[in-house]
Amino acid sequence: MSAPTEGILGATRREGKRLMDLWWQEMTEAAQTGRPTAYVFAMGSMAELLRTFDFVLNFPEITSLQIAVRGQSQAYIQAAEDYGFSPDVCGYVKADVGLQLRQGEHPYGRVPRPSLVVTSNVCNTYIKWSEIWEHLYGCPVFVVDLPGWRGRESAALDGETFRNDARYVQGQLQELIGLCEQITGRRFDVDRFREHLAEANRMAELYNAVCETNRHIPAPFNAVVEGVTYQGIAHLYRGSQEGSRYFQQVLQEMQERIRLGMAAVPDERFRLVLVGTTCYSHFRRFVELFASWGGVFVHSTYMVFAGGGFLPGFAYDLSRPLESFAERMVAAAYWGYTGSMFYQQDWLDEVVRRWHVDGICFHGVKSCRTVSTGLPDVREWMRIQRNVPGLFIQSDLVDPRLWSDAQVKNRVDAFFEALAAHKAATRR
Ligand code: SF4
Repeated sequence: MSAPTEGILGATRREGKRLMDLWWQEMTEAAQTGRPTAYVFAMGSMAELLRTFDFVLNFPEITSLQIAVRGQSQAYIQAAEDYGFSPDVCGYVKADVGLQLRQGEHPYGRVPRPSLVVTSNVCNTYIKWSEIWEHLYGCPVFVVDLPGWRGRESAALDGETFRNDARYVQGQLQELIGLCEQITGRRFDVDRFREHLAEANRMAELYNAVCETNRHIPAPFNAVVEGVTYQGIAHLYRGSQEGSRYFQQVLQEMQERIRLGMAAVPDERFRLVLVGTTCYSHFRRFVELFASWGGVFVHSTYMVFAGGGFLPGFAYDLSRPLESFAERMVAAAYWGYTGSMFYQQDWLDEVVRRWHVDGICFHGVKSCRTVSTGLPDVREWMRIQRNVPGLFIQSDLVDPRLWSDAQVKNRVDAFFEALAAHKAATRR
């Protein structure tokens, strides 16, 4: 093995942490100074547009996830349930309600109050969640209605349905711009907006190039471990120079790992895709159950679905900034719910081939119907039509009470035994 190029290995872990700390510092300062803060969601954050108005962006899905990774979600969820929320409400929502009831005190800093909430209809929980903040703080809530079900033809970017949908979304964005001007007292600066779009283009290209590096055997990163940080930074720094620089660095590090023959999971034996999320309250344990069998997650639906909709080929047309922004939102929404809910097998089929996947883990999240709908059907389709084995397990995103270690371990172990036999028989 040749010597590593100095300063590359491990640099992105440090930089990822630095950027995450910086975001928390900005949020905590905003909580003290009252700098305008927008609450936004991972799917359809509109970060490029809101950045133009200098909003601090709070992503409550990320803050809830971080509470769980720190092992503190049960107390926050319990506070929400004591307040009256039902046990089957989305765990992210309840962890956030617990956070709001503590005046924004979070293990990593302080969450500011919202000056504006921007949501889409990609998940119906987003709208009900936004109503909670409206109720608590009386803040304006702007709901962008992204057209969903139009069948496969709506994915055709030059089709009439797509053009009509994009025009419909553009009209809503113009209303949103008016509201942002009112809240911040700033005029919309289209040149600044264009700069943020250009940075998002750079980031998307690099993000997809990073995902592609995992086609290498052995995989240089675990899409569930490092992948979570990549998704987080892609959201928090979307449309900014720091974000693009970070992914440039990640790409460099992945190329270096490949050059040195480094594997995310030592002695890689099985290449997997994760459909859904991990269980963040048992994050390490979840990964360990697979890694102990030499299983590495080479890709996940979340790297696309919750990675900001950076589909391969993603690019804004900078000569028509607002139109192009609306078009990309419609395309991402198509993938986010029409595509991933009804045609997930198409994407999986491609990933299995291109990323040399041996098996698929479908993780049903008890409190999230949005990402869990239809998983057993897709698993059956992949097994019958493509001879790709699938494991179906259930727990939650952030609620530790829904994690049953013995049950999950039994299923994972049995899956790997069967997968080993299948791999030997098919010589995959
Ligand atoms: S997608 Fe699932 S986890 Fe996310 S807000 Fe909706 S219900 Fe909650």
